[in-house]
Amino acid sequence: MQPTLADILAAAKVIRGVADATPLVPSSFMSDLAGSEFLLKLENMQPIGAFKLRGALNAVAAVDQAAGVTCCSTGNHGRGVAYAARERGLRAVICMSELVPRVKVEGIRALGAEVCIAGRSQDDALAESQRLVAEEGLFEISPFDDPMVIAGQGTIGLEILAARPDLHTLLVPLSGGGLAAGVALAAKSINPGIRVVGISMDRGAAMHESLRAGHPVEVEELPSLADSLGGGIGMQNRLSFPMCRDLLDETVLVTEEEIYRAMQVLYHEDRIVAEGACVVGLAAVLEGRVTLEGPTATIVTGRNLDMEMFTRIVTGQDVRLGDVTVPGRPYARPA
Ligand SMILES: *Cc1c(COP(=O)(O)O)cnc(C)c1O
Repeated sequence: MQPTLADILAAAKVIRGVADATPLVPSSFMSDLAGSEFLLKLENMQPIGAFKLRGALNAVAAVDQAAGVTCCSTGNHGRGVAYAARERGLRAVICMSELVPRVKVEGIRALGAEVCIAGRSQDDALAESQRLVAEEGLFEISPFDDPMVIAGQGTIGLEILAARPDLHTLLVPLSGGGLAAGVALAAKSINPGIRVVGISMDRGAAMHESLRAGHPVEVEELPSLADSLGGGIGMQNRLSFPMCRDLLDETVLVTEEEIYRAMQVLYHEDRIVAEGACVVGLAAVLEGRVTLEGPTATIVTGRNLDMEMFTRIVTGQDVRLGDVTVPGRPYARPA
């Protein structure tokens, strides 16, 4: 049931020319600061603005005999599925909660997919997606707990290791764990000694809590600057939980303030526009939560953010997240 390196190699063929070959570039600022080479895999350059196109293309390519496809999503998976379904002329219905930023919902509609907004959590969105499977014969594609999705995301690991077989550490943003499972599988198949660290925000870190408990647990879903990392891992998780358990060396959490500062750093030092979810690896290094012992890469997973909020962050203003406020702070270069 779990995908293998062969599945990731097969996925690489499926996505070739559409969702592969994103740049892997050094951040000279972060390299100087950390005292070892620090590389950014720029998945924010993907056609849909996020890596999820890889898994979605691979999963949608495998669908046959369905009235269409459906999924629940924090936004980027839905956009990937919408893009892949449009390429194949399939109907796509994307189910999302009210927490999903409007910019992501609009991006999905622009690809011609149907959108349904259900409830306040990923669990609510998932229930709606499952209703569509039962009532309308749609095929459901999980954002993270699907072998084709995990294999598709794993192609990022292939590309990073092909470019840099000498990599010591990979820092991977972690939510449902499809990305981390696929990337860690690819990376460790090629270089078993590589260290792979999963990083989440401390507001609702479902995989981190599940790994600690030894089984999937539910966490409260809260608004976060890293909105793409929200949601549970599914109490019936079959693949991404055991793979993360077996393949990740550790998991690390960062706060909203730390995400805020890391977004400022990536923008002001490297001129990169990236979602909060993408900078958790950077934040962990900036805060000394992970120490680097050799060449390190992190995945800048996506760029689909609300530009008004982003402008507030890079200009040092307060940001409201539901009932909490992340206090503003003018950019000051970390020493
Ligand atoms: C989905 C997503 C992640 C996390 O991926 P998982 O497979 O759910 O762990 C990270 N960053 C962005 C931008 C995403 O859209």
